[in-house]
Amino acid sequence: MALLEEPIKGILSLKNYIDGEWNESSGKILDVVNPATMKVIARVPISTKDEVNTAVEAANEAFPEWRNTPPLARARCLFRLKELMEEHFEELSRIQTMEHGKTIDDSRGETRRGIENVEVATGIPSLMTGYNLEDISSGIDEYVIHQPIGLFGIIGPFNFPFMVPLWFAPYAVATGNCIIIKPSSEDPISQIKIAELAEEAGIPPGVWNIVNGGRDVVSGLINNPEINGVCFVGSTPVGRDVVYKGCGETGKRVIVQGGAKNFSLIMPDAILEKTITACMTSFYGNTGQRCLAAENLVVVGEGLNDQEYDSFYNKVVDNFIDAASKIRVGYGLDDSVQMGPLRDVEKKNKVIDFIEKGVQEGAKLILDGRDVKIVTNNPIDCFLNPTVFEDVTPDMTIANEEIFGPVANIIKARDFDEAIKMINNNRYGNSATIFTSSGRWAREFQYNVLCGNIGINVGIPAPMAFFPFGGMKDSFFGTLHGQGRDAIRFFTDTKVVIQRWF
Ligand code: NAD
Repeated sequence: MALLEEPIKGILSLKNYIDGEWNESSGKILDVVNPATMKVIARVPISTKDEVNTAVEAANEAFPEWRNTPPLARARCLFRLKELMEEHFEELSRIQTMEHGKTIDDSRGETRRGIENVEVATGIPSLMTGYNLEDISSGIDEYVIHQPIGLFGIIGPFNFPFMVPLWFAPYAVATGNCIIIKPSSEDPISQIKIAELAEEAGIPPGVWNIVNGGRDVVSGLINNPEINGVCFVGSTPVGRDVVYKGCGETGKRVIVQGGAKNFSLIMPDAILEKTITACMTSFYGNTGQRCLAAENLVVVGEGLNDQEYDSFYNKVVDNFIDAASKIRVGYGLDDSVQMGPLRDVEKKNKVIDFIEKGVQEGAKLILDGRDVKIVTNNPIDCFLNPTVFEDVTPDMTIANEEIFGPVANIIKARDFDEAIKMINNNRYGNSATIFTSSGRWAREFQYNVLCGNIGINVGIPAPMAFFPFGGMKDSFFGTLHGQGRDAIRFFTDTKVVIQRWF
């Protein structure tokens, strides 16, 4: 057990990055607390609408020149940014562990996935090309060009403070737009670090801006007529009722990725040992604070008689409990730790409320994570241990609502169709996974499940940067998604030219 060196010493005083300069905000200041140590590691300003407007003016000013910069030259800035991120890989990862609480392994994964988006966006000279057809009529040609639009706001959630804004920012900038990022005020430090690297990479002033804060910054972005579009990732109520609705009213493009309630099906022909390993990272990785985390494990008895089903079910539960109770909980900078704390006490208490609700509604608590045991010598304020319920039914609150913590609900489904109904009756549609050795069940699953990200023998079906990040029903509002080609289309307007020369 060895604690890695903390990259943040003392208390950082975070600033806004506007027009290539680091500015103090006149707004109130909040503490950023490391949830494992409960120490204040930074102070972040809650900026005002006026400060949003200043950033918008700077971005507007920068836009014409950035738009005129050839895509190849824009891509070179992103190549430099990628190189700088690689150089700072470990520091960026440790910052995430300090600001969020996730294990260093989870942070390194997040850093890698973030950098991959920058990497993909460097392909912009190829990705942004249009198409054409000669002689649509005799002597007349037609072609499509993709042009940057202008200014975009990017609003991030707390659970992936480094990666999520990078689902959008590199594509927006590569296509010739200017951006204003509002990181989550709960853990904004890694976004500040990225902006420092963007500055060092030579991205011109006004192109990449950061305005820290909360709802005033969000409404400032939505209501500013110079902002052309907004990308939001966070909870469904805020995403749908504030951002999607607000962007509809103000006529902006929008991507809203919302909350989730993810199911994982285990079929009788699944390879149990590998399935349980995948489940541990899916249910407990990032302390369950992942929009792709499974929360409901459905043990499916397709093709089994009652006795066989009981024996299969008991085997799954025993193996699940055995693995979950061995997870090492503690400070994520200890690289032997497998699960860190919740982001803050409020979030931990929310998870505890769900656990109490589960008990009240008749679910059986077979592993109680409220009995906190951690392997590092830290205050336990934000920690919970892995929790498991069985005898959960689909109508229970814990089976329906997003818990966003290390809680697994084990549910019985007598056959495959019953399991699919459970998933499709849930209001969310972010992701679902199936563990099976049967191509038939895998295909039926992929075909019928109303979720945007599907895992087949994969616990966390996180799309790579060159594919869009899916989402359906109450998990997604919009048309085009973040990442990959969808992002290129979102950040560009399509112009159609029909030409004839006399
Ligand atoms: P949140 O909705 O509380 O906050 C998201 C962002 O909105 C933050 O920047 C926050 O400062 C801002 N915000 C919060 N309340 C606001 C309000 N009333 N008006 C305007 N802005 C407001 O979400 P969170 O707790 O930071 O993130 C967790 C949620 O995000 C979970 O529901 C999770 O499933 C979801 N999430 C979804 C995806 C996805 O791809 N679908 C990815 C990551 C996280």
